Amino acid sequence: MEMIKSVNPIKHLVVIGTGLIGGSVSLALKKAGKVERVTGVGRSRDNLVLAKELGIVDDWTHDIAVAVAHADVVLLAVPMTAYESVFAAMQDTLPANAIVTDAGSTKQSAIAAAQKLLPDCSRFVPAHPIAGTEQSGSGAAFAELFEHHLCILTPDSQTGAEAVQWVEEMWQATGSRVMRMEPAEHDDFLAAVSHLPHLTAFALVNAVRKQGTEQHQPFEFAAGGFRDFSRIASSSPHMWRDIALCNRKAVIHQLDALQDELNSLKLALQNGDGDRLLNHFTAAKQARDAWLAKHGANES
Ligand code: NAD
Repeated sequence: MEMIKSVNPIKHLVVIGTGLIGGSVSLALKKAGKVERVTGVGRSRDNLVLAKELGIVDDWTHDIAVAVAHADVVLLAVPMTAYESVFAAMQDTLPANAIVTDAGSTKQSAIAAAQKLLPDCSRFVPAHPIAGTEQSGSGAAFAELFEHHLCILTPDSQTGAEAVQWVEEMWQATGSRVMRMEPAEHDDFLAAVSHLPHLTAFALVNAVRKQGTEQHQPFEFAAGGFRDFSRIASSSPHMWRDIALCNRKAVIHQLDALQDELNSLKLALQNGDGDRLLNHFTAAKQARDAWLAKHGANES
């Protein structure tokens, strides 16, 4: 097996998808002095030009095969359904000793794409930084995005131990707190705490928007509660379509769980059962308050 190149600092990082997440990784590593040169790859010329102007990348190209040919580290920060085409485009020119990591929100689909298309998937270390905003593109990137947030690595039996150790240190250098988890376990938990809330926010806004009258739109009367609950409905529809499709089974399971809760609330209302409503609301308040007390309001 080829030795992993000395990468502290990384001599050449290639960020495929220089949007919010890819751009923020680059800025965080630059701020920490952990990278010498960053090449950005993407499809939108305007976004790449902006990334250069903002100092996120040192140079850029649309050509994945050319970009990775001299890479030490490649980071995928593209939508989940782009993984197969990105891996396919790099498979002939990726140096044998380069490390590949990613930031994608679903891990079993990422691993399946790597195993199908990368010549040596022992160098692919799947990662998911649990940090983000509802903004997209390199203009939204900032160096502090990952500070104090979790980054979950999901190596499997094929992932090389040395590569995992190295990628762990890279994500730590972005300010992340790194932990490791089984890919399936990751996808199940993230379906509950990330994918379900996003689908629910989209559904809530749609349910409300359809209820306008000739005189009024319901949003005219919305205040902080609606704003808080619906914030993530401003997220990228394309990104969330991809995430939902790539973790379909787990997301359907979570939608069923939410449906059960909603049905239970509906039944309590139909029966005028105040005790049941109170039990629901109290259990939820206690669980959320305990979470905030343990992890702080600022943590993902
Ligand atoms: P983004 O839209 O800001 O950036 C994605 C970038 O990928 C864009 O610059 C786009 O031009 C580029 N791109 C799209 N298809 C491509 C292709 N086929 N080849 C090359 N480039 C392509 O999105 P983001 O929020 O940075 O998300 C990137 C990844 O990170 C996604 O997989 C997402 O699931 C994951 N993620 C997002 C968040 C979040 O809160 N936004 C958090 C954690 C992980």
